[in-house]
Amino acid sequence: MDWFKRRKGIATSEKKAIPDGLWVKCNSCGEIIYRPELQKRLFVCPKCEYHFRINSKDYVEYFFDPDSFTETGANIKPADPLRFRDTKKYTDRLKAAQKTTGLNDAAITGDATIEGKPVVCAIMDFTFIGGSMGSVVGEKIARAADRARERRVPLIVISASGGARMMESALSLMQMAKTSAKLAQLAQEGIPYFSILTDPTTGGTTASFAMLGDVNIAEPGALIGFAGQRVIKQTIGQDLPEGFQKAEFLKDHGFVDLIVHRWEMRETLGKIIDLLWAGGGKAKNNGKVASGEKAAKASRSSDAVAPGKN
Ligand SMILES: [Zn+2]
Repeated sequence: MDWFKRRKGIATSEKKAIPDGLWVKCNSCGEIIYRPELQKRLFVCPKCEYHFRINSKDYVEYFFDPDSFTETGANIKPADPLRFRDTKKYTDRLKAAQKTTGLNDAAITGDATIEGKPVVCAIMDFTFIGGSMGSVVGEKIARAADRARERRVPLIVISASGGARMMESALSLMQMAKTSAKLAQLAQEGIPYFSILTDPTTGGTTASFAMLGDVNIAEPGALIGFAGQRVIKQTIGQDLPEGFQKAEFLKDHGFVDLIVHRWEMRETLGKIIDLLWAGGGKAKNNGKVASGEKAAKASRSSDAVAPGKN
């Protein structure tokens, strides 16, 4: 007789599949965080307040009033006039990025409200080829600036970018001049532009529109710079201060005006708009100029054209 007999019907416990990414490790303190919990906290670490990188859709949800965002320029798509190819064809990179992100390119633009105040906004997306600024991003930001000027409402650009898109060569670099010129036109009319710098904001983006805000606001701990640390060190031959490209260092040295926690961004922006614009600003609707509260209301409904209603 066998000492042990294999009995039928005893099931070994099956390995339960854990959905991908249910637990997230904090990049700063290493804490393991339950993703739904992190989502509730707008992707800010409960232990150390590290601000995780989030995509453009999340920023729309977190920084603007619920359901107030209406996308503009959604039909602007990238082209490849240089027929660029490195290890892959540029067109293949674009297709892959479009498929994984569901976006046409690395920025979305639209009309929205913040605490009831109308704004035009552009939001970059780091998940699309590193938030690189090519012709589409430049064009969208330029058009957003034009639209803010037409509607006479503040412009808000949320940057998240690795810099200019090298696959578009000089065409991407030209976007720096184009966006800066459009912002200058906005400034000439006295319409405020708020730049929000998130992690990371670097390269050509920093060297153009990201640093041109009337108020430059950073998220805590954001990496903000032009060239990488190693390149600067090699160029100037000097050791660089600790954390010199972090939002906090830049604020201490006058490059950033405010550092605002993700949870407080909407409220803070609302207050700044009140201070700089709502009182003195005049919004235009259907060719008419209104002011104050009426203007704000008019701008909110300006897309649903209602002739003779104002
Ligand atoms: Zn943490």
